[in-house]
Amino acid sequence: MPPGFSKPALPAGSFELPPTAGLPAVFGDFIRKPARAFTLGLQDWLGLPEPVIPTCSGTAALVVALKTLHQRAPAKNQVIIPAYTCPLVALAVKLVPGLSALPCDTVRGGIDLAPEALGALCSERTLAIVPAHLGGRVADLTRVCAIAKKCGALVIEDAAQAMGAFNHGVSVGLAGDAGFFSLAVGKGLSTYEGGVLFSRHPDLSAELAAMAKKTLLPDFFRNLRRLLELAGYMALYSPSGLRHAYGRSLRRELARGDEVRAVGDYFTLEDIPLHSPDSLRLRAAANALERLPAFLAQGRMRAEKYLAELRKLEGVAVVRDNPDANGVWPFFMALLPGKRERDDILRRLWTSGLGVSKLFAHALPDYAYLGESGTGSPAGGPEAYSGARDFAARMFTITNSPWLDEEKFSGIVAVMRESL
Ligand SMILES: *Cc1c(COP(=O)(O)O)cnc(C)c1O
Repeated sequence: MPPGFSKPALPAGSFELPPTAGLPAVFGDFIRKPARAFTLGLQDWLGLPEPVIPTCSGTAALVVALKTLHQRAPAKNQVIIPAYTCPLVALAVKLVPGLSALPCDTVRGGIDLAPEALGALCSERTLAIVPAHLGGRVADLTRVCAIAKKCGALVIEDAAQAMGAFNHGVSVGLAGDAGFFSLAVGKGLSTYEGGVLFSRHPDLSAELAAMAKKTLLPDFFRNLRRLLELAGYMALYSPSGLRHAYGRSLRRELARGDEVRAVGDYFTLEDIPLHSPDSLRLRAAANALERLPAFLAQGRMRAEKYLAELRKLEGVAVVRDNPDANGVWPFFMALLPGKRERDDILRRLWTSGLGVSKLFAHALPDYAYLGESGTGSPAGGPEAYSGARDFAARMFTITNSPWLDEEKFSGIVAVMRESL
């Protein structure tokens, strides 16, 4: 490199930032002997009680939790889920015979379940409520737990996107009756597919562990496939590799006008295998976990810097935590004044390679493929699910990947300014 030149930035069009800040996994994670087993590492770091149950996916963790609760209370058959969340949550409910999912509206401009809507949906038939800590933000569990208690339902915290987030110094997942993390691609720490289930109640923990043992049997070929997929992820998780691994299909699906597939929101029940995870990927996870707290701390520092910039944009709101919470920052959820501005920004940035995306394509009741049987509830009139639908219409995400440097971030902000 000639003197006086700094290392050139990647030429435009040759990089693709991931939409979330995932911890890079390395091949050495398969080989190095970890200081502690993955589950013990999680116990130490997050203060999770024993046993911490590894599963093949976050969805599988939810299935195990629902089956366990249903076994306890066979007469209760309804599960209340946010009307804005991952479609896999609705499918998990569908996987448990006898249960149906009821979407509950979310508050305007946020991820929390709307208390009035939740109160109206709860009854003696409610088995569980599944609030979600979306995007690393810490959802309000106090009100949810109070409403759940009144109707005799239990609370399962969906912390799929929030491993490492704390509320009042306590890990998410420990305020409700059970909680789960996801280790899927795109979450903080990934084994390509994986999950973790736990409960603060010793008796329920034991029941969950017994149900997991019964439900999640070894599956050599599935795990071999996941192992190869994780190796591929390790090889391609870079701004140039992601151009192929993520950017190509994103562009193809968007060109087709299929936002559901572009976001990776299309799932069938066959996409949710139930088996136990293999020990080699758990070893890789144990090694990766040793780097995770520092990686998340750096993410928080980047987030503070970028949040200060985003705050200067009039008309833009970014979803934040309450003052007692300390969430994680895989990406930012930015709310625009209206759908028009949001869509304009996405039109210009979604395929820019800058890590701008939608979190989910729609509010849950608006996925045609889930249908009424998917959520167990009709989509309703124009007033139904107004909080969730408004959030889906006005929100987009900006990655907090370490590869998002200030120059790229400024480029995103410039487009936002023009669209406002
Ligand atoms: C990813 C995700 C899940 C499901 O986790 P998998 O590990 O992909 O099965 C559930 N809920 C939310 C909010 C998620 O983001």
